[in-house]
Amino acid sequence: MTDSMADNRADNRADSMAAFPDWKSMGHRYFPLGVSMRHEFGCAVWKVSVDIGCSCPNIDGTIGTGGCIFCNTHGFAPSRRFNKPEVSLSEQINFGIRQLQRRYSKAEKFIAYFQPSTNTYLAPERLEQFCRTALGHSEIVGLAIGTRPDTLPDGILDMLELLSRTFWIQLEIGLQSIHQKSLDFLNRGHNYPVFCDAFRRCRQRNLRLGVHLIVGIPGEERKDILATAHEIARLQPDCVKLHQLYVVRETPLEKLWQTGKIRLMTLEEYAGLVVDFLEVLPPSVVIDRISGEADSLFLLAPAWSGTKHAARNAVQQEFQRRCSFQGIGYLSSDSLGNFGNCGNH
Ligand code: SF4
Repeated sequence: MTDSMADNRADNRADSMAAFPDWKSMGHRYFPLGVSMRHEFGCAVWKVSVDIGCSCPNIDGTIGTGGCIFCNTHGFAPSRRFNKPEVSLSEQINFGIRQLQRRYSKAEKFIAYFQPSTNTYLAPERLEQFCRTALGHSEIVGLAIGTRPDTLPDGILDMLELLSRTFWIQLEIGLQSIHQKSLDFLNRGHNYPVFCDAFRRCRQRNLRLGVHLIVGIPGEERKDILATAHEIARLQPDCVKLHQLYVVRETPLEKLWQTGKIRLMTLEEYAGLVVDFLEVLPPSVVIDRISGEADSLFLLAPAWSGTKHAARNAVQQEFQRRCSFQGIGYLSSDSLGNFGNCGNH
């Protein structure tokens, strides 16, 4: 592909992003994933977490050993329990759909989410097989693929570019922070320029992109978190996931926490910083999550991480207290339009 073709495709992506729904008039303070899904698919769509059995280059020694200090792939994804040769991808999808339909009666269609570990850490042909298996399921309308920024070779991106001309596909890239001191603390094994390079190569191929970030990394002050938010606002990914830093069993972070070497944020501190973050993001960026969830069998702290909806309620209250919303710090006063009116929701 020539550079001009890539630029044109990136422009087309920007045009399509401009057509986002007026989520504020629906009573939201930020652009939630559910509204985005209904806008794109015309019905409620839920993510089904599945495990395609990949490893991670930050664990197996290719990039590092030990992994990110917060990572216990069992704790982060219950689906990892089904990572057995006898449980096929199709069976995992069927199981996940049944579980979701039991909990959410409105669940109609589903996105297969290749979640645990680094799901682009395999040959393009093998990943394509997994993609086509998932996308061939009658109730699956799209695919989300979680990965690291340093594990996105051109061969994988070329394959995904071709598939995404027919199917809804989103790459979800873990960045966590733009600051090197934080990436080092987390033992991420990559830097911010590597992320920027991956992001650029994905955008050249018009790939849909999500970015995962942590709010509350020890050593980061509010100005550091805002610097990351401003960078994300500049890049304008399709969606963002925000997570608190939480401690799960059998991780290096557990040792730091048990010995009192790190302090975790209170719910109030976290909610304030999440609102700070969302205020500077463009209103077109979908907010997939505003907090993370760990399996209760593995979660150690903070206690509020295990309370369903605690972060969502606290963020909502903080938005209301400020009479604020996503994008208020991004949009110029001239371009606020309807978004400039503070509602009472
Ligand atoms: S990149 Fe992902 S799977 Fe690998 S160690 Fe970090 S969090 Fe775990």
